[in-house]
Amino acid sequence: MEQLQNLIGGQLQGSTKDKWLDNIEPATGAVYGQIPRSDADDVELAVQAAAKAFPQWSNRSFEDRSECLRRWAKIVAQHAGELVRAESKDNGKPISLAEAVDIPRAQKNLEFFAGAIEHFASEAHIPADSSHIHYTHRKPIGIVGCISPWNLPLYLFTWKIAPAIAAGNCVIAKPSEITPVSAFMLSQWAEEAGIPAGVFNVVHGLGSEAGQAIVEHPQIKAISFTGGTSTGAHIARTTAPQFKKLSLELGGKNPAIIFEDCDFDKAVSTTLRSSFANQGQICLCSSRILIQDKLYDRFKNALVEKVKRMRIGDPADAATKMGAVVSQAHRDKILSSINNAKEAGGTILCGGDEAEAPNERCRNGFFVQPTIIEGLGPTCEINQEEVFGPVITLQSFRTEEEAIQLANDSQYGLAATIWTQDIAKAHRTAAAVESGIAWINCWLVRDLRTPFGGVKSSGVGREGGFEALRFFTEPQSVCLPTQA
Ligand code: NDP
Repeated sequence: MEQLQNLIGGQLQGSTKDKWLDNIEPATGAVYGQIPRSDADDVELAVQAAAKAFPQWSNRSFEDRSECLRRWAKIVAQHAGELVRAESKDNGKPISLAEAVDIPRAQKNLEFFAGAIEHFASEAHIPADSSHIHYTHRKPIGIVGCISPWNLPLYLFTWKIAPAIAAGNCVIAKPSEITPVSAFMLSQWAEEAGIPAGVFNVVHGLGSEAGQAIVEHPQIKAISFTGGTSTGAHIARTTAPQFKKLSLELGGKNPAIIFEDCDFDKAVSTTLRSSFANQGQICLCSSRILIQDKLYDRFKNALVEKVKRMRIGDPADAATKMGAVVSQAHRDKILSSINNAKEAGGTILCGGDEAEAPNERCRNGFFVQPTIIEGLGPTCEINQEEVFGPVITLQSFRTEEEAIQLANDSQYGLAATIWTQDIAKAHRTAAAVESGIAWINCWLVRDLRTPFGGVKSSGVGREGGFEALRFFTEPQSVCLPTQA
């Protein structure tokens, strides 16, 4: 059974207390590896290594740092097949999805920030009399913590560590304990990429132990966290007295607004994808489908028919489009949300239960049927709380105003999709919807230069492009007289 290791100060090693956690394959329910159960002592070692590495790394030229990231990206590309299989096995996602999305994007994140740091410029301000130059010196922060979730493991892990390292920081990173393998693989290649010992440290373990120790450590000056809203609130409470810089990318309850004048076929097929991709376990997935009343029955029938045809498969099978959910605990949480919706009077249009295992190998795996629920109002739990699984609800609206009101009737504000062929209406709706991201007649189309993040309980701060480099640097205003 493979034992993963932490990367601390360039050394792959177990936890100081030699404690281990089991790693489970969601498709089979079987333990197939172990990870170090690290705690504050391991985080302390990582911080010491990072503190030692920081002076040199922060003084390396941006070309050098960029080159290291490019080499890392190349190594990821060379090992893409292995990473795809590992990500699928560790998370339960179809191998086709890991191949099309997760691993290419992880590679792209490393490449993108290798390029972005070459174009990241300081601003300067010169008054009319040219007496002074005021310039902004953006310095690396120092040691930063990067904590990522299980749904898009390497994709979100690299989205954080790449800008942090590019900007000249040293990183203490913790992948989710549920999906640790791809981050471990990446850590094995750091040295080959030329990343000096101590610049990139990975501490595996539980959120409440290793994660908490990262968040609490006084020498870690910034935390970039992606995960659930309640964990985000806990991290905000813990870090506030230390005045750490915080970027929080949290949960969502994303509306898809379907107007009667939409391109019907495209709206149905994209809503199918936006609802159920990665078994609904993407923070950007649509979960509240709001349909204009005149189109309601037609849209509902078309969507239900398509969902009924979806087949759950073994994630390792290349033809599978829908795999396992990430863990037994998560499966049970999804099923309990469905049951609560049933008890609240919701009508299950399809799904609504555990799914049969697709084959003998997967007989103890964690599978949930794609589920559509109607008949519940906006205040019901299922329309307010994030399920983060293959479960959506349908609600109808009459007017544009009502659509916006329903869309905004949520503590969350991450992403919205808007379906109409009237561009003015699309723009009005996007402007009125309280969300960090709005997609008009499309979904999950990303340009890595754009700001990414949510409003309300979906987070604080933005990642992506220069926003990420701004987050991982501390701006200092310097004023220089032009005459002696
Ligand atoms: P969690 O909040 O449970 O965990 C996220 C990460 O934080 C994990 O690495 C976890 O470790 C760690 N963690 C848990 N407790 C602490 C703590 N006290 N201190 C420090 N770290 C801690 O989220 P999930 O992993 O369950 O991910 C799903 C959530 O992520 C969903 O709510 C989803 O919406 C959100 N998400 C948001 C995105 C966005 O960009 N807005 C993108 C993707 C997901 P461990 O797993 O070991 O407990």
